[in-house]
Amino acid sequence: MKDLVPFHIRNLVPYESAKSINITGNILLNANELPWKKEIFIKNNLLNRYPDFQPIKLIQRYSNYVKLKFNNILATRGADEAIELLIKSFCTSQKDSIMITPPTYDMYRVSATILNIKVVSIPLNKNFQLNCKEILNNLVNIKLIYLCNPNNPTGNILFKHDVEIILKKLPLHILLIIDEAYIEFSSKNSFIYLLAKHSNLIILRTLSKAFGLAGIRCGFILSNAKLIKILRNVLNPYPIPTPTSSIAITALHKNNIVIMKRYVSLILKYKKYLINKISQFYFVKCIYPSNANFILVKFINAKLVFTHLLKYGIILRDQSNKYLLKNCLRISVGTQLECQSLINIFLILEQGRDI
Ligand SMILES: *Cc1c(COP(=O)(O)O)cnc(C)c1O
Repeated sequence: MKDLVPFHIRNLVPYESAKSINITGNILLNANELPWKKEIFIKNNLLNRYPDFQPIKLIQRYSNYVKLKFNNILATRGADEAIELLIKSFCTSQKDSIMITPPTYDMYRVSATILNIKVVSIPLNKNFQLNCKEILNNLVNIKLIYLCNPNNPTGNILFKHDVEIILKKLPLHILLIIDEAYIEFSSKNSFIYLLAKHSNLIILRTLSKAFGLAGIRCGFILSNAKLIKILRNVLNPYPIPTPTSSIAITALHKNNIVIMKRYVSLILKYKKYLINKISQFYFVKCIYPSNANFILVKFINAKLVFTHLLKYGIILRDQSNKYLLKNCLRISVGTQLECQSLINIFLILEQGRDI
C-alpha cells in the first residue's frame, strides 16, 4: 500500500459527513438541511442525451434571483465541487497554499489536501471574527482565502468592515472566496455587493440549505466574467445532471422563491423558540449568536448530552474536537415538532440530573 498510495492521501483526515458516521436516528439535526421534503415532479424524456454544460434556463433563473449577469454565474455539482474546482484552477502543487480560518467548514482543508496543496490556518478570534492583521501578514504563497459567511459551525456572520479591509489590501493575484451556503437565513448580510468593486472576489452558493435540495447536488459560483471563464475551462463537461437542472429550475421559479422565503421565516421562528427554551437548562453553558439555520451550543458536558439524545434517536453534530469549540454541539433547527422533542429530552436529562 505504501507504494500505491501517495503520502498526502495516506495522511488525509477525511471529511466526516453527517452520513459517514455510523449512527441512526429519526430526528436528524446534524446536517443543517431543511426539515421538510419537497414534492417536485419532473417530466423528463431526454435522459439518453448528455446534459447541457450550463443549462441556460437554470443560469437565467439564478441570475434573476441574485441579480447578476449570465457570465457572472457558474453552476456546479454542489458548492463542494466549487470549493475543489477553485483549488484545481488556481493552485500549483508544491508551490501555492490556501488559507482557512478555523473553526470553519472542513471541506476547504480536505479538498486542498487531496490535491496536495498546503493549508495555512489563521484561527478566528474568541468572538469567531477574522484576525485581519494575521491574515494580511501571512500571505506568502497564498492563492486562495476561504471565508464562510454565515460561518459553519459557529453560525455568526463576519464583520462587513473586516472583509472590506481585507479586500482593499489584498493583492489582486490572491482570490478571496466567501462561502454563502447559509446566506438565505441572513440575506441582508451577503457580500454580493462587493463583486462589482473587486475582481478577486468569489462567492459560493448552494441549493442544499435554504432551498431544501441537498439531494440534487446543485451549487453556484458567482464572480466576474474573466474568472468564470477560466473556471468553465476546468469544470468537468457535464457537471449538472438533467434531473438536477429540471428540479433546480422549478425551485428557482419566482413563486417557489417566495415559498423558500416562507420556510426560511419559519426556521428563524423555531430557532428563536429553541434558543429561548434551551437557554434555561442548567447544563447549557452558552448559545452562540446565529445567523443561520443552526445553533452552536456549549454544554457542561457535550459528550453526555450527545449520547443521551442519541438514545432517543435525536442526532446532533459533535464539534467538541474543533479549535475553540470544546464541549460544543451544533444543532440544526428542525420542524416545530422536532424542536419540541429535543426540548422534552433535555427536560428528562435535567430531571434525571445525570450530567
Ligand atoms: C453544506 C455546506 C456546503 C456544501 O454545499 P453543497 O452544495 O451541498 O455541496 C458548502 N459550504 C458550507 C459552509 C456548507 O455548510
